[in-house]
Amino acid sequence: MPKQRILVADDEPAVIELCQRILTANGYEVECVSNGWMAIERAKEKHFDLLLIDIKMPGLSGLETAQAIKEFDPEIVCVTMTGHGTMDTAIQALKLGIDEFVVKPFTPDELGIAISRGLEKERLRRENVRLKALIPLFELSKVFMSTVDLDELLHNVVQIARQETRSDWVALLLWDERRRVLLVRASIGFPEYLSCEEAMEEGREIAASVMRSGEQLVLQDRSGSFAAFMEKIGVHSLIVSPLLVKNEAIGVLVLAKVAQGDFFAPGDVELLSVLSGQAAIAIENARLFEEIQHAYQELQKLDHMKSEFINIAAHELRTPLAILLGYATLLQEEAEGKAKEQLGIIVRNAMRLRALVDSMLNLRYLETGKSQLKLEQIILRQAIDEAVGDLSPLAESKGQSIEVRLPESFPPIVADRQKLALILTNLLSNAVKFTPEGGRITIEVKSNEREVLVSVSDTGIGIPPEEHERIFERFYQVGDSLTRKHGGIGLGLSIAKGMVELCGGRIWVESEVGRGSTFTFTIPQQQGAGELRMASGGA
Ligand code: ADP
Repeated sequence: MPKQRILVADDEPAVIELCQRILTANGYEVECVSNGWMAIERAKEKHFDLLLIDIKMPGLSGLETAQAIKEFDPEIVCVTMTGHGTMDTAIQALKLGIDEFVVKPFTPDELGIAISRGLEKERLRRENVRLKALIPLFELSKVFMSTVDLDELLHNVVQIARQETRSDWVALLLWDERRRVLLVRASIGFPEYLSCEEAMEEGREIAASVMRSGEQLVLQDRSGSFAAFMEKIGVHSLIVSPLLVKNEAIGVLVLAKVAQGDFFAPGDVELLSVLSGQAAIAIENARLFEEIQHAYQELQKLDHMKSEFINIAAHELRTPLAILLGYATLLQEEAEGKAKEQLGIIVRNAMRLRALVDSMLNLRYLETGKSQLKLEQIILRQAIDEAVGDLSPLAESKGQSIEVRLPESFPPIVADRQKLALILTNLLSNAVKFTPEGGRITIEVKSNEREVLVSVSDTGIGIPPEEHERIFERFYQVGDSLTRKHGGIGLGLSIAKGMVELCGGRIWVESEVGRGSTFTFTIPQQQGAGELRMASGGA
């Protein structure tokens, strides 16, 4: 820690010598002068922590000297040395802002105690200033962090900064990256004769220098090289605080006091540097929030357009497809030989196209909440056999076996027939698609009190663990050439998941690459199921 500096002023050389010895021995850096004028001169040249001064000196008195020095260095601690005859003056001096006094003749201890008491008082005063600055900051951070609307936040910042520092006017400028200029984004308290824009136009140079240096600029009472500018805009004290985010200035906060002698207090300066830091972070957060909101709105618009497109395209495709499929089937029945074979290809491909269109429409119904449940009693064995029946030609063509494991006595369940069929078909067709020739596909049904569990297992290519969640997303396909060659557009599982969840169940996959996959979904044993069974006289 640097040594604390003490300036001693006394017209008696013996006292000066004594003080110098005692204070140096106590670890202070000491300078001595013999009258008030010299003390003022020295104090102007550099800052002293403490002034130890004889109260009664020829020429300028100790009290007058101390007051003159305090005017330009308000933080200096003043301790007076006084004789017994001047006790009244010493007490008077305390009332006028002198911090301590010591009575002559004094012992080294007495002097040491007076000095450290004076310095301690100053330390406590500074601490107090800091604490006072911290209390409003706590309130500030609450206000800042709870505002995400940028304009409202900027308005709050200038208002709070003005109120806490009792400034006459405050302006907040932010750097506009696109136009590469500082723009006034909020202001308060400007008089009619001076618009904020005019003042800032004049002060552009100061603002830019603070942006560059990233350091706060404090100009008290038209001091320094910007005095002419301050006179022009009619202010006496000015603070320009950078708004720093990760050491980069995103703008500046400018505060002004108009009246002569109306200085910013040390606490104001401290408060502003913290306030600017917090405001900068809050501004950055609000900006990011605005950007995210904007991006989200754009996404929503795109999503809506895409949904509309799918809707129109699917509806428009359906009718011509139905006609094409109808006539092609008729012709295929009547045709013979090569023509029959070729018409068969047309029918199969038209059916694939119809399945695709149906998938897109199903997804849209799920997304728009138009898909509704139609519960009825279902014999699960029948539903599974139908789905297996649809896919067995394809499985047979690949030499695959499909086994169904379901107890004969399995009671009917209550579910949505169409949705159940779709879930089963999607899982089964994937199993067939992603299982090599000669593979095995097994459908197994289990149940407990709460739900029926249906699983479709295959001995196919399997799915890597990191993809287990994503394959249920729309249009997602495992990025592997093996799967791509199987066709499809990545909707089957997302539709199956949507349908399962609409029915109140869950769906998941367990899989090992190269060994196979098991997709399991649940159908809740609904509370109303029993009543439905009884009403329809089910088994
Ligand atoms: P599609 O089958 O049309 O590509 P899905 O949504 O049904 O779309 O499936 C998404 C992806 O999940 C598939 O492309 C495939 O990569 C993977 N997948 C689904 N089922 C299986 C399975 N039984 N075995 C291996 N991979 C599968």
